[in-house]
Amino acid sequence: MSGNLNHHKRRLSIVCLSLLISACSTSLKVDTHHLEKSDPTPSIKNTSFVTNSPNLIIHTLPVGAGNCQIMSCPNEDKIVVFDCGSTGSAEQSWNVSKIQEYLRDIGVQTSTRITVSISHPDADHYNFIPDLFTQPVSSIYASGDTHEYSQAMRNWFTTQSQNGVRIQRFTEPQHSTENVPDLGCKNNVWSRILAVAVGSSKNARSMVVAIGFNHAFQAIFTGDMTDETEQYIADNLSSTGVIISKTNFITGAHHGASTHGSNSAQWVKDNHADVAVFSSGTRHNHPRCLATEKYEVTSMKTVNHTYTCGNANAPRSTIQTDRAVFGTLDNGLLLIEASPTGGFKFHPQR
Ligand SMILES: [Zn+2]
Repeated sequence: MSGNLNHHKRRLSIVCLSLLISACSTSLKVDTHHLEKSDPTPSIKNTSFVTNSPNLIIHTLPVGAGNCQIMSCPNEDKIVVFDCGSTGSAEQSWNVSKIQEYLRDIGVQTSTRITVSISHPDADHYNFIPDLFTQPVSSIYASGDTHEYSQAMRNWFTTQSQNGVRIQRFTEPQHSTENVPDLGCKNNVWSRILAVAVGSSKNARSMVVAIGFNHAFQAIFTGDMTDETEQYIADNLSSTGVIISKTNFITGAHHGASTHGSNSAQWVKDNHADVAVFSSGTRHNHPRCLATEKYEVTSMKTVNHTYTCGNANAPRSTIQTDRAVFGTLDNGLLLIEASPTGGFKFHPQR
């Protein structure tokens, strides 16, 4: 336990945080040890959260029961899309037109290089993509065979391919032992696939990607991975070169499910991520409290906030916490911004 605490303190010393507080919630208490003065600006248009800034930014969009994460590359006109889809509504679930508007707001234009990474062939991870990216993108990484996707998605793959776009498909278990430049950025953002096409279910076969910025910030995108995927990652981690305990930001696997071994205690402990985010709507009662409570133990301290989580045979619980655990269902858009020198800030919408 003391090892974990020391590890955490070491990282906290380089972390600088501030909250982007929306106009309707200006009374959040700020812990001055960990947080800088809050920025009261609620509009994305007036912030630095645009492409081509010096910082690496990960945008987790509140799409409801699905996943849609955009990484903006530092000093480069490029984004990497880690899944984008939804199959269930939530109070403020964003649809395709809202996401298109958002992409314009953060500076995505026709010249922007776009890599699309699809963790696995479940619609809640890809069904917005054909309508979002009607022009040729730069490259595509997709787990699973074409026939596992919807007709609309198959048509999109065909059109992209006819336009000369390279599509990297994964149907056999593998991981990367060196940088995957398309999934990272030109300026010191490396990327590794920790696992893909592993196991017996579509969820288990999710592509899990780690990215790092200057060896000072690390994030992991997990898709809907299960215990089989976790085991494969543990068995092969040393050959990826990724030190998993350096993770600062993590997406809770499978929207925070607790079935099929997703979000196991060992996985959460090994990563020891500072910030955990769960992308979900009201379907399937995600995230499950059994999952979020594990991240409550390992994540860093922040201001008091509230999120809800689901239980098997009981009403949803409302969690009051000062730990950096967030759900898109309750906390909305979540931005995390890493500077080239190692600090990072995160900004829940509410
Ligand atoms: Zn899913």
